Amino acid sequence: MFARHKEIASSIEGLTDEERELLYSGMNIHGHLCGAMPVGFRAGLAALKALGSERERDMDKFAIIYAGNRHAAGCFADGVQFATGCTFGKGIMKKEPKGKWSFMVVDKVKGKAVKVKIKAGFIKKVYEAPFISEYRIKGIKPTDVPKDAAEAAFKRPFGLKLEDFLEIEGPFDFKVEKTPASFNLEVCEKCGEAVAENYVRLEDGKKVCPDCFSYND
Ligand SMILES: [Zn+2]
Ligand SMILES: [Zn+2]
Repeated sequence: MFARHKEIASSIEGLTDEERELLYSGMNIHGHLCGAMPVGFRAGLAALKALGSERERDMDKFAIIYAGNRHAAGCFADGVQFATGCTFGKGIMKKEPKGKWSFMVVDKVKGKAVKVKIKAGFIKKVYEAPFISEYRIKGIKPTDVPKDAAEAAFKRPFGLKLEDFLEIEGPFDFKVEKTPASFNLEVCEKCGEAVAENYVRLEDGKKVCPDCFSYND
């Protein structure tokens, strides 16, 4: 499977060698071929270019994804993560679920941000392509979609001009308040699990984790 991913990534034109390498890693992590991850990937690269910034390796940028849950855009968010390096695990990607194919990337060092929106006309075409209209809509899993349809859906966004499928707003000023990260560790006095200091709560004079806190709504 990884070998096939390598072949497909290597065949994509219009990317640098490094971007192809990144796409290949992203395909392996994402797990299946689909039509939305590559859209997010290209859009993420375009966002960085518009910001004049490199892919994030530390925590100096963050992304907010306006895709929600239970609709066909989750894979899109993965592509944005792979391209921008703004990942969920590093705490620099978050979802503000609005059911949209759009996102914002903020460069905290530059104090600049861009918003990227995928054009409605293009999304309609993605929904009409066989990958969704013949398979996904019937509940067929992406890995069970015939290889040709899945590969066609995956490759399609790379053959388009950026202006054919996305709009970029910005760069515009975006100031971010600096908030510190905690390196202080506590141990919950009820369950014994380790918990970062900034998530500890007090209950009857004991330091407890959010799970053990009784006053939750
Ligand atoms: Zn996918
Ligand atoms: Zn606890």
